[in-house]
Amino acid sequence: MSEKKWWEKPVRMLRHDFISGYDELTRRDLEKLAREKKEKWHINCEWMVGSLGASPGRGFQTTFEAKGFERVPGFEKFDLLRKYLPYAHKYGIHLLSYLNLHWFSYEFAKKHPGWEQITSSGKPYGELFPLYGNGTTFCVNSPWREWAFSLIEEAMKTGIDGIFMDGPVIFPDCCYCSSCQERFYSIYHKKIPLEDWQSPLWRKSLSFREESMALFLKDAQERVKKINPEGVIFLNAGGWHPGSWRVARDIQKLSPYQNFNGAEAFFHLHSGEHYLFDSSIMAKYLRAEDKPVVVFTHHAQGVWHYIPLAAREIEIALLQTIANKANPWIAIFESKYSPDRESFERAQNVFAFQEKNEKYYTDTESIAEIALLFSFQTSSLYISSLPSLYKDLGTGIERDLIFDKGSGKKIIDWKKRKEVCEGLLSLSHMGYYSILTRNHFLFDIILDNSLTEEKLKKYKVLILPDACLLSDEKLKIIKSFVSRGGSLISSFEAGFYDEEGKEKKNRMFEILGIKKIDGLFPTVKGENYFKADKDIFGFQKNQLIERSPYAVQITPEEKVSSFFTFLNPLPRIYLPLRGNSKYPAILINKFGRGKVIYFPFDIGSFYGEYKPESHEKILKESINYLLKPTLITNAPPTVEIEVYKKSRSTIFHFVNLSGDMQRPLTNIIPVKNIEVEFSSGNPSKKVFALKDNKRIPFSFSKGKLKFKISLDNYEVVVCE
Ligand SMILES: [Zn+2]
Repeated sequence: MSEKKWWEKPVRMLRHDFISGYDELTRRDLEKLAREKKEKWHINCEWMVGSLGASPGRGFQTTFEAKGFERVPGFEKFDLLRKYLPYAHKYGIHLLSYLNLHWFSYEFAKKHPGWEQITSSGKPYGELFPLYGNGTTFCVNSPWREWAFSLIEEAMKTGIDGIFMDGPVIFPDCCYCSSCQERFYSIYHKKIPLEDWQSPLWRKSLSFREESMALFLKDAQERVKKINPEGVIFLNAGGWHPGSWRVARDIQKLSPYQNFNGAEAFFHLHSGEHYLFDSSIMAKYLRAEDKPVVVFTHHAQGVWHYIPLAAREIEIALLQTIANKANPWIAIFESKYSPDRESFERAQNVFAFQEKNEKYYTDTESIAEIALLFSFQTSSLYISSLPSLYKDLGTGIERDLIFDKGSGKKIIDWKKRKEVCEGLLSLSHMGYYSILTRNHFLFDIILDNSLTEEKLKKYKVLILPDACLLSDEKLKIIKSFVSRGGSLISSFEAGFYDEEGKEKKNRMFEILGIKKIDGLFPTVKGENYFKADKDIFGFQKNQLIERSPYAVQITPEEKVSSFFTFLNPLPRIYLPLRGNSKYPAILINKFGRGKVIYFPFDIGSFYGEYKPESHEKILKESINYLLKPTLITNAPPTVEIEVYKKSRSTIFHFVNLSGDMQRPLTNIIPVKNIEVEFSSGNPSKKVFALKDNKRIPFSFSKGKLKFKISLDNYEVVVCE
């Protein structure tokens, strides 16, 4: 095996910012700064600002000598990158330049007509939506691209190790500039259409935007490599949230042209609740493309940028990141006021631990047995054809003797419909992710690209969440996976549309065991149920289970088993029950040598929103019915467990999220006596805990490894 490049090994990244004035750096002892990064922060990669992300859009000014570019005031005689680089390298730190490539002043834009991103109204984006209150943004297809590439070249000429591009993105409702129109016309022989979800050309224009982004990145990468063949480049590739299409970021298209896939998992103080597995879901999503991954952790207490993020929140975000095979990133914003020391110490401790145990984070391989599909084409193009989905159902909350059942009105606007579907998909992803993580199943997230015969070989169960657009070709691959003995879990409208979003329900009938679809139950939030037909999956016979508002009435094929039946619908709450319907609530089908479980309701999004215990149990027991999990444990749902193979070792990561029951967390409650039973096949000679720094007693018999641990915030257990 060839020696790994530095970016293929664990990388710990940091950005040190001076929020009240970046020129503070010109007065600092640069060697001392670099030494602190190594000795205190234990990082091996640092970002230095090369062009500013500051008001009023100063992306055109540089902190280093760059031919043809204006210098940041205060840096006229101070070449930051060239001055800092020798110290960074002396302390083993790879230096990247942060280039702001999305925020420019109106004045600078005026000097360069034709560079700005133009909205469908013909007005520049920055005029309608001033960036951060003041400034505009440029187009990747315009002549600005050459300007950006020469800035990249100039930065690389300083000798640094690479570039992080903050932007560009193609902003929503952009870009209709003449350069984009010209390129689009040369491909499609039409003008760029306006947003119209029923128009095939509009759907194509979304790919055009994504490909324009990818092409920009590809050319930028070439410019980096022209100066330094070992130079790295990457940008924020967009995360798992359905909605990345708005800014034209498709990780699958960007991935080939960058060294890291990175995205933000930011913690904000806000009125809703921060998702418990936020950094972990992002890491798992990003690593689906089989390349080094960075999760950007918010450094600040939301929009109070002078205060670091709460100590325990920084810590669990970084721990979830490294436990999920991603590289951590954090920024520190320095001002004359004292930061919360504990916040920084907890981050430093995570970095120090990873540095010390680097070999256990290198060359590890996921041993997941379940694949959960997060489909980008679905987030881009899914608009359900079920009208009931667009009905206002209210909150379903009863308070002060008033029940909020909504207006019952239907949304007509297609843009709004698209948003409704994205909301459903987002909840569905979170719902499935939460249930799998809380129950310690070993799983990967896969993307559309990974639906290949080869990649699926690794998995025993494939999960298609509530909605996913599938081409005929991908469906064929899934069918062949199941007929060869794999298992499929699918729910609601998964596979009911082709890759362009056209409805094609019938092609799913054979694999799911559907004879015909009679319709949808009336959409009512609350008081509708299904029931267990016998003692099964931990439910007693006739036990009631909450029904999601969206449930499909299915006549199954005769060979299909069910064991759960929907009750007849109730139009309102507090009415007597009206007996059983003829429709099954779960379908269990055999297909070739494999099994298929289909939930004719949106189990993922329903759980994502309401978290009913019953639905967690149904999914958990369904998986247990399909496979014998490799990992069995009594760990509580708030302990996340990830397991990897590294040659002949097995490495377990335990992240303890048991805390306050509100965010930000201030406290982690230790968990004692976590029992782990792992069907490894290979007997272990030695089991040891890296953080506790001690050997752990274990037993091995009949292919099963058993050990016990007590957990503070994090532990890594290595079985050799
Ligand atoms: Zn344009």
